Amino acid sequence: MFSWYRAQAKLHGTIAATRLLARVIRYRLPVVISNDLLPATLECPCCGWQGRRFLDYIEIGYHIPNAACPQCDSHSRHRAFYLWLKNEFRLDEKKGRALIFAPERALAPLWDAARELKIFKTDLHAERGVDLLSDVAQLPFADQSVSLIWCHHVLEQVPDDQAAMGELLRVLESDGELIISAGSTGRETTEEFGTANQMFSGNQRVYGDDFSDRLRAAGFNVSAQTYNLTADELKRFGIYPETFYRCTKAA
Ligand SMILES: [Zn+2]
Repeated sequence: MFSWYRAQAKLHGTIAATRLLARVIRYRLPVVISNDLLPATLECPCCGWQGRRFLDYIEIGYHIPNAACPQCDSHSRHRAFYLWLKNEFRLDEKKGRALIFAPERALAPLWDAARELKIFKTDLHAERGVDLLSDVAQLPFADQSVSLIWCHHVLEQVPDDQAAMGELLRVLESDGELIISAGSTGRETTEEFGTANQMFSGNQRVYGDDFSDRLRAAGFNVSAQTYNLTADELKRFGIYPETFYRCTKAA
């Protein structure tokens, strides 16, 4: 918590960080108490935690209720992808070479269990236990050398996203697959900030519904997907529906 506070103070100043900390404590306390006292109605598929309510995710510019697993810190997207990768995509049966950007901690057991996949976990920073420090816009891989690319909520942080999409296309095998998302904003068109916007987690842009058009323009066939979960499953696992994309190389 202290390192989180220090990071917030560095980005937004001590006063804003202290106000934020007070909000986090104010919203977290009732959740912790209700998880202790009330019967469980929620479940985290990633770690098996059961309780009454997930923790709210609060940052400057964001407040997402019922978001983070108290045990493994999974968020809606992680819990949904855990179920999708396991039950729909059948990750454990996949073979070849996989490139995982910004590897999500909650999904690590699934990737580790995919014995036939040679996995390269990559990021710009070393904190996530990655195999490779690399810029998505400049990848140290040969043309058509990767069969599966997993890239979620990454491109909004990249200064030149067209260069990044070009690199993803270049390294993907002709019958390989890119599975990608960039957050659901509800707006029609992408807004470029031209710099890292600290009110949007340091992102360079906020994508709109034209994100899939950008992927098509880069040379991908794009298929919009949902998690394919029932209303009961969405409620039980605390998942907000979100669109993601399965992409292959256009002929
Ligand atoms: Zn969990």
